[in-house]
Amino acid sequence: MNEKITIYCDGRCGRSVTLRKNKIQKCDYYICDSKESRDICKSKLPKRKNGMIEIHTFNAVAHFQGISYKYPNEKEKVNITRAKKNLKIGLLKISINNRNYENN
Ligand SMILES: [Zn+2]
Repeated sequence: MNEKITIYCDGRCGRSVTLRKNKIQKCDYYICDSKESRDICKSKLPKRKNGMIEIHTFNAVAHFQGISYKYPNEKEKVNITRAKKNLKIGLLKISINNRNYENN
């Protein structure tokens, strides 16, 4: 009924976690939490397609992080546009502040 399942890190480092099926949060990929290799493991995942967003689920399976790719819905598209605009404004402010600093 509530069988245990072993999930392996999709970065192919060999690390795994075993847990009950009902404790698994469904994600496209799972990455270990190893400080030494998690960045390398993440870099081995298939690349997301242009226009897709990446969703991170912390502790998706025990201490493994879950990663899913999807195309943004309308609400997410609005948030992305706003975030990009805020980033541009922020960078512009930094640039102006630096210029003022250099002129003093
Ligand atoms: Zn790994």
